[in-house]
Amino acid sequence: MELDYLTINEAAQLLNEKKVSSAELTQHCIKNIKQKNAEVNAFLTITEDKALNSAKESDERRSRGELKSNIDGIPGSLKDVICTAGVRTTAASKMLDNFIPPYDAHVTRLLKDAGAVIVGKTNLDEFAMGTTTAYSAYNMTKNPWDTSRVVGGSSGGSAASVAADQSIFSLGTDTGGSIRLPASWTNTVGLRPTYGRVSRNGVIAMASSLDQVGTFTRSVADAAELLRILAEPDTGDSTSYKIPVPNYVAAIGKDIKGMKIGVVKEFMGEAVDVKIREAVNAAIRQFEKLGAEIIDISVPLAEESLATYMVIVPSEVSTNLERYDGIKYGVSANEDANVDNLIEVYYKSRQKFGNEAKRRIMLGSFALSAGFYDQYYNRARKVQRMIKAQFSEKFKEVDVMVGPVSPTMPFKTNEDLNDSLKLWMADLLVVPVNVANLCGISVPCGFEQGLPIGMQIIANHFDEEKLFKVASAFEVSTEWHKINAKSKIQN
Ligand code: GLN
Repeated sequence: MELDYLTINEAAQLLNEKKVSSAELTQHCIKNIKQKNAEVNAFLTITEDKALNSAKESDERRSRGELKSNIDGIPGSLKDVICTAGVRTTAASKMLDNFIPPYDAHVTRLLKDAGAVIVGKTNLDEFAMGTTTAYSAYNMTKNPWDTSRVVGGSSGGSAASVAADQSIFSLGTDTGGSIRLPASWTNTVGLRPTYGRVSRNGVIAMASSLDQVGTFTRSVADAAELLRILAEPDTGDSTSYKIPVPNYVAAIGKDIKGMKIGVVKEFMGEAVDVKIREAVNAAIRQFEKLGAEIIDISVPLAEESLATYMVIVPSEVSTNLERYDGIKYGVSANEDANVDNLIEVYYKSRQKFGNEAKRRIMLGSFALSAGFYDQYYNRARKVQRMIKAQFSEKFKEVDVMVGPVSPTMPFKTNEDLNDSLKLWMADLLVVPVNVANLCGISVPCGFEQGLPIGMQIIANHFDEEKLFKVASAFEVSTEWHKINAKSKIQN
């Protein structure tokens, strides 16, 4: 039985037809993890025993006809900021090297309740800050399409795990593009739901006003399937939106005739690699063929998003990371022989942070300090409101907006990956979605020199159904998503 690169729906069908068991699917993923982890490094923790146990339970449920959901028995992975009871959760930081959460994140619980099998925890940039996974404290993840390239970040391990067929889906977080960017560089489908759609309860915080959990999958239908499960409102997160969960799956495969698709001028400028623009333009022609109305639009304030983001994020990072002082949380320097007072415990313990975390803590502490709070943080908040208002205005004219995800192809791993400006520029087209509290999805739309290119589709707050409708119409009428990295990895 051919088990390579199955979608959730394909795997579920094989399970239903009794052509494969969850144990076999799980073993298939574990085998690929073991074969490729030394090279790709997508996983920080492999939960083989637990996974095989859950697979067995799922197979037993199936034989009794007591299935919990369509993802019952399907193996997936979780970014290592998502808490898993009894399984180490590090945020790829030495600070949490020994952290074993006593409870599951809400999303972990929802997956378990749905019967999914969790094969392990995936690598990321420390505390989800970065664009390459080079800022992980535990080696960087490589791109399964070409291991001399970065995979993108910060949810790079999750993207790689799906692209290397080590899990059928993965959950990541997208505070400033961390799902969509690595998805675009790995030919996977990356969904960032609207802020508030999915509970953050039990997800290690980076920038709380922007953090959001989302998915990596091999099809748009799979993303819809997962969001239907994950979007369940949660009283444990005050920003979880308490509205009913639409049947996202119903949006799949629908006609998009007459839908209005806005091409955002600011996303198609000189900063974007010409090959990427060509691929997105070809996708736009495809939408036209499908009967959509293409409308050129301009959202000038989108260009202020990155600057706004780079004030808000470090500010919130500095407050969120304050708790890791070696006393309240985090690996402690308390036992070090040459540490003899509380300040030294704090000081020494906090040295465990990597450079990017330290950089953002310093920037954020500055932006929040007395006298500068209004000048920086509050001003950024005001600009954020203006950006949101402008997007809202434009969404009166169009159903969705489209553009590229990344302005460039994935960097080489031997390039300078400490050049902050270069890395932040990679976020240029993804952060507007976060800053304006919208939802976005990255879908495969082309290749350049054997490397995948992603297109971004953006919808208004809580309009995920439109995202799924447009993205799936594109997907079913093209072949890009079917190309996988297998041949590359075997080279
Ligand atoms: N590149 C973004 C940053 O470094 C990614 C953040 C994220 O989405 N977690 O801030």
